[in-house]
Amino acid sequence: MAYVISAPPQPTVPVEGEAGSFPVSRIWCVGRNFADHAREMGHDPDREPPFFFSKPNTAVVPGGGTIPFPVQTQDFHHEIELVVAIGKGGKNIPVEQALEHVYGYAVGLDMTRRDIQAVAKKMGRPWELSKGFDQSCPISAIKKVSEVGHPTKGLIQVTVNGKVQQTGDLNQMIWSVPESIAYLSTYVELLPGDLIMTGTPAGVSAVKPGDALHGTCEGVGEIKVTYSA
Ligand code: MN
Repeated sequence: MAYVISAPPQPTVPVEGEAGSFPVSRIWCVGRNFADHAREMGHDPDREPPFFFSKPNTAVVPGGGTIPFPVQTQDFHHEIELVVAIGKGGKNIPVEQALEHVYGYAVGLDMTRRDIQAVAKKMGRPWELSKGFDQSCPISAIKKVSEVGHPTKGLIQVTVNGKVQQTGDLNQMIWSVPESIAYLSTYVELLPGDLIMTGTPAGVSAVKPGDALHGTCEGVGEIKVTYSA
């Protein structure tokens, strides 16, 4: 059947070593998955089951680059994260089988309008406009599992203008990648093309127009973003 308006473009992320690209479905994000970040945001990390929020697939900025500073924020934060690319969908996925659903991994930035999020938390409102806005997910090329395996440890960090701001190790995650997949799949049916951002270590800080971010995840890749002044 024909569409009544032009169909929106399918957001994609490049895959290293492949001519084709990865079509992005939904972007799921794990909240407070590093204890030190949960603490810096004023929470007790030991008492909470995982929780999730999402961004639209239009948020991806494949490969980063120079992008506009976002509107409607005076407190714009970086969150560097390992990103899981789901290749095979499913629901109620057992934790032992969860990794079979992974196509590959990337490193991305869960960019956050922290001031809007703070108001949302205070007022008991949704997080969408603090997390799911335009260009809020700069992301590296995906590396296939056949290239990178399933990373469970390794340095993850981001520098701003050359200064280290966030640093952590993938082995500090409260909920592992298979646990996050299994848990999330009890709430929604995961789809091929879904991305899961797995949470960020401590050190989140405010980004200003003109700032250059360089995120790295050991063995997975890097992402560079400059916010135009
Ligand atoms: Mn995050």
